[in-house]
Amino acid sequence: MSRHDPATLADRIPQGDRRALARAITLVESTRDDHRRLAEELLERLLPLTGGSTRIGISGVPGVGKSTFIESFGRHVIDAGHRVGVLAVDPTSSRSGGSILGDKTRMQELARDKDAFVRPSPTGGTLGGVARRTREVMLLCEAAGFDVMLIETVGVGQSETAVADMVDLFMLLLLPGGGDELQGIKKGISEIADLLVVNKADVDPNAANAAASEYRSALRMLRPASDSWQPPVLTAAGLSGKGVDDVWAKIQDYRQAMEASGALAERRAGQARAWMWNELEESLIAAFKKHPEVARDLPELERAVTRGDLPAAAAARRLLKTFLGYSPSDAQD
Ligand code: GDP
Repeated sequence: MSRHDPATLADRIPQGDRRALARAITLVESTRDDHRRLAEELLERLLPLTGGSTRIGISGVPGVGKSTFIESFGRHVIDAGHRVGVLAVDPTSSRSGGSILGDKTRMQELARDKDAFVRPSPTGGTLGGVARRTREVMLLCEAAGFDVMLIETVGVGQSETAVADMVDLFMLLLLPGGGDELQGIKKGISEIADLLVVNKADVDPNAANAAASEYRSALRMLRPASDSWQPPVLTAAGLSGKGVDDVWAKIQDYRQAMEASGALAERRAGQARAWMWNELEESLIAAFKKHPEVARDLPELERAVTRGDLPAAAAARRLLKTFLGYSPSDAQD
């Protein structure tokens, strides 16, 4: 039997077999077509066992203290009787193969704990591809019994939205002195942040408290992401662990409020729909590029567009016609 047999993996993962989990993750992260099919079969088998975790996104600029925070937060949550998975969506790793988040030296303590699972971010591919794999690895971890999932990302650009789209709660870590960050908040982060934490509050507690009240008043001017929840602003210090208990308590309040109002179920349902459409888009583009005649015509048409000899829309229409076997504009008439 193959080491990637979905039925065997689906049996072993829920029993806490880490080797099976690691193999399944390799499968999910593989770009080979046969692996893809096995991964899909595996995910389908495991689906009834997924969805049971509190999914938490954690973001913030490099140096804000994310990995230090996750170490002590993870510790606290494990002490409270949970099992914690940590994954990362790292836009730098998809571009360069290197990464800000994923290197293995981070969160060493947590990584050694039997109740934790720390996975460096997958490298290569587009942000969309990395996000998809992270989402699927999250499902695998849930099936393996991890009931708190932390998805970390660096506070830049679209990766935050990608993470917000796969979690129940999105937490933003901030620095006490962050006048610039206040700008960032106004520019849309607040629309996806459900909880703000002014970190490194040990350095200057007064400054941290002052920053927290500034953020609070800035947030009051803005519309919260959900009607059931006004994002609170807390202070904490990941290094000493001070305040991580309040953060965990607040996350539980959030879960209760969002479950009671039905907003959590609604959010997950919306995410599931959006995932389906993302999958569809990615698969369509992949199938399109693999189509033999499209692959044959594409380079020349692309050159013609580049030279300015052919309008982009006309090239796209021709390629689509080749792909579909009929002209999409005819079909509309
Ligand atoms: P990341 O890039 O956001 O993951 O940040 P790190 O967790 O790697 O932390 C960056 C630096 O800030 C490290 O030197 C940490 O030791 C330090 N640091 C992290 N958290 C705290 C904290 O709560 N208080 C203080 N004083 N330093 C911290």
